[in-house]
Amino acid sequence: MNVLFVSAEVAPFAKTGGLGDVGAALPRALRAAGHDVRIVLPCYRRIFEGNYRLKLLIPPITLAIGQSRISFETLEVTLPDSDVPVYLIRCPRLYDRPNIYTGDADEHLRFALLNWAALRIAQQLGFAPDIVHANDWQTGLLPLMLKTVFAWDRLFENTRSVLTIHNIGHQGTFAASAISEVGLGMTAASFHQEHLAEGRMSFMLTGLLYANAITTVSPTYAREIQTVEHGVGLDGFLRQRRDVLFGILNGIDDAEWNPTKDRHLPARYSADDLTGKAANKAALLQQLRLPNRPGVPLIGMVTRLAWQKGLDLCFEALPALFRQRDVQLVVLGSGEAKYEAFFAELAHRLPHRVAFINRFSEPLAHLIEAGSDMFLMPSRYEPCGLNQMYSLAYGTPPIVHRTGGLADTVRQWDPRSGEGNGFVFDHFDAVGLKWALGAAVDTYRSSRAWSRIVQNGMRAELGWSHRVREYEDLYRALAPS
Ligand code: ADP
Repeated sequence: MNVLFVSAEVAPFAKTGGLGDVGAALPRALRAAGHDVRIVLPCYRRIFEGNYRLKLLIPPITLAIGQSRISFETLEVTLPDSDVPVYLIRCPRLYDRPNIYTGDADEHLRFALLNWAALRIAQQLGFAPDIVHANDWQTGLLPLMLKTVFAWDRLFENTRSVLTIHNIGHQGTFAASAISEVGLGMTAASFHQEHLAEGRMSFMLTGLLYANAITTVSPTYAREIQTVEHGVGLDGFLRQRRDVLFGILNGIDDAEWNPTKDRHLPARYSADDLTGKAANKAALLQQLRLPNRPGVPLIGMVTRLAWQKGLDLCFEALPALFRQRDVQLVVLGSGEAKYEAFFAELAHRLPHRVAFINRFSEPLAHLIEAGSDMFLMPSRYEPCGLNQMYSLAYGTPPIVHRTGGLADTVRQWDPRSGEGNGFVFDHFDAVGLKWALGAAVDTYRSSRAWSRIVQNGMRAELGWSHRVREYEDLYRALAPS
């Protein structure tokens, strides 16, 4: 099938979180299954800094979008470890900025261009997609555009749209005036009228209303977002569309996250031979300037420092853990000031036990997954979560809150049956987190139990090759008969 895959993030070109990983891995897996996938991505400033081989594919096209005239050229680059073409929308006026996402006054226009340009590029190339696969709010206008402003073009006659929700907490809500500013004034009647009456519009909701199918990134999250508690105001619309809403778990990209061939690691290892894992721990501790003390577990965290990630529980649970048990902690992350201040203070107070690295580093993320003994991810909500899957694959049992994709991938260790691959607390409170941390650290002392947990995680099937079939089945089911 022909798939036009549109995303605001595609690793390694542009990534702030899991969307970037999936934006690369899913197209790569679809390509491996024989489909003609083309990716469309904005050409952010950081892509020019990245030393990629970019070539001009389409000379400037000028679009009249609302009152603006916006020109863009299309560059082409190949997705690493594949032959999937990535079409980069070069528009310095909108994308030559330090960050992928901004709070700037034209944010709606920045991503509206992504929607317009994706379909214009398909036209220019004569590429007739069977599926336009949109991802998150930044691409939420595509389903409506296909049904309205691009409906005249027979190229899209058989095109169906899929919108994947990677995180419903971000909806792209703007003042209602944005509708005409993004060039969709003539379709204003198609936008949600109650929202309009309240003076706002939402990219995500527009996508949910018009996509032929909606997916999200785990079965549990697919159920959760239909509830008031997790739907962030969109639960009612999702319940109305539940017959076309599917939860498909993300996979992990075997080319990037595999301890047997990870290029970021000083020592590679496998479930059959874990000796390299100890060497990675030694290298990690040395890099962090923490003492290497045999028998003392090292807890790893790699995360955006955001409310969603459940870090508020750490304020109480981590100091208590350090008082009660001998452990070390490494945290890699950046984000909200109050979390940065908390981890900085903890590292300052416990310099031999805690290291806080306040930045984004892909190589260090890999080394932490490999070199830590256990991985902490107490998310308040988690659509899928990739880090807990990476830690399973790297023999680093995860400690998680039972929510979303964490609930679908991590099973509580049961010493009687020998089943389970991590530690899971049910109630989102410090008591729950303290229990799970204590249980993990205590279990670590029994090397037999621990090695069983590690093996249970490392031997699980976490790759994309299985998941991709669910997307293929969905695409096929949508095709006109
Ligand atoms: P989310 O998409 O909500 O951030 P996920 O667990 O789905 O959460 O994906 C997070 C991705 O971002 C992982 O690949 C993780 O390694 C990466 N990541 C997050 N913070 C950092 C950081 N500070 N440095 C390097 N990688 C990071």
